Amino acid sequence: MKVLVINCGSSSIKYQLFAMGGCSVIAAGVVERIGEADSRLIHRRPADSGRFDETVHAQSILDHRDGLQHIAAALRESDALRDPSELFGIGHRVVHGGEAFQRPILISSKVVEGLREMVPLAPLHNPANLLGIEVSLELVPDVPQVAVFDTAFHQSMPPHAFHYALPHELYTAHHVRRYGFHGTSHYYVAKQAASHLGKPLEALNLITLHLGNGASAAAIRAGKSIDTSMGMTPLEGLIMGTRCGDIDPAIHFFLARTTGKSNDELESLLNTESGLKGICGKNDMREVMSLSDSGDDRARLAVEMYCYRIKKYIGAYFAVLGRVDAIVFTGGIGENAALIRQRACEGLAALGIIIDERRNKMPVREAREIQRNDSAVSILVIPTDEELEIATQTVACIQAEREPG
Ligand code: ADP
Repeated sequence: MKVLVINCGSSSIKYQLFAMGGCSVIAAGVVERIGEADSRLIHRRPADSGRFDETVHAQSILDHRDGLQHIAAALRESDALRDPSELFGIGHRVVHGGEAFQRPILISSKVVEGLREMVPLAPLHNPANLLGIEVSLELVPDVPQVAVFDTAFHQSMPPHAFHYALPHELYTAHHVRRYGFHGTSHYYVAKQAASHLGKPLEALNLITLHLGNGASAAAIRAGKSIDTSMGMTPLEGLIMGTRCGDIDPAIHFFLARTTGKSNDELESLLNTESGLKGICGKNDMREVMSLSDSGDDRARLAVEMYCYRIKKYIGAYFAVLGRVDAIVFTGGIGENAALIRQRACEGLAALGIIIDERRNKMPVREAREIQRNDSAVSILVIPTDEELEIATQTVACIQAEREPG
């Protein structure tokens, strides 16, 4: 059973082809810089010992349609997928599902209309997701296609967590509320944590920390998300590579008045020029940490601020949950940066959160526990796999549709 997962961005298309029996990756890749002269397709096939053979097809890729056609050709030529009819389904990552889409959905023309209505909620992300869906429906109309939403897992948040203290009409008329993102990742690592701890997910209270280029925290009670740090958009919450996370909203008005910047300019400033990049000039945590090691004051400040913000959320979600069984670190930073994990958990012994320095530093790639033996709360590092989770949800959605009840 083969499933293709597509993650369509404004100038890129990432893809992974899974054989669902063993959840293994048959092929993967990315089309980059769509529409530019130096656009290219990087196609990977698994080789021996966990490595991938990579082929780079450098050619001019005009648009998303062209990009998807190149992907189909690369899959065919590498024998990964000789014909689209071999596909059980295609899963599309969609960033924002609003309140309308609370779970993955089989895509029909009515669903496409519904997705179009979501565009104003996520103008920076949803248009590209939608474009990818429309083009692949056109290219392979006979393959079932499923939309999987970053927001869906957080739809279980109670009203007191998802409302903002704004005039209620802004919610009813304009859907202004907290939605949260990275839901696929939070859900995936929560399930992995449950299986690692040998307990049903429904029995667990967790704080999951997805720390990648984007970053978010979630409070999970009895397996369901009850709060998360990202808001109506992915801008709120933790400090990220280029996003500011929580700030005083009045800063926006102050900057508009004092700098004369437009709304669009300020939106871009907060999304692409802030966060780690704004503080120290680098958005990649590896570079920030190496600058910090070499004594750069602003990089040190960036690391300190980054960990301090995570710690504040751990404390807040501890209070929200009452009992915490485990804290889970994931994402490129959460999985790899021992120093960040250690600093974020520092001084939390009173909450029963005690990291073991040696376990924390072990460079292991699999899911693992890094708490001290006397820590009441388990601390886990779990590699996320959003694509595999999208593929899993795609299969479940198509099967449920075929066998209703
Ligand atoms: P995305 O959100 O784009 O999927 P990732 O989850 O891959 O991103 O996370 C990217 C971040 O992870 C970058 O800031 C990168 O520097 C950081 N990262 C990756 N490996 C390490 C490492 N060994 N130590 C510290 N940071 C790392």
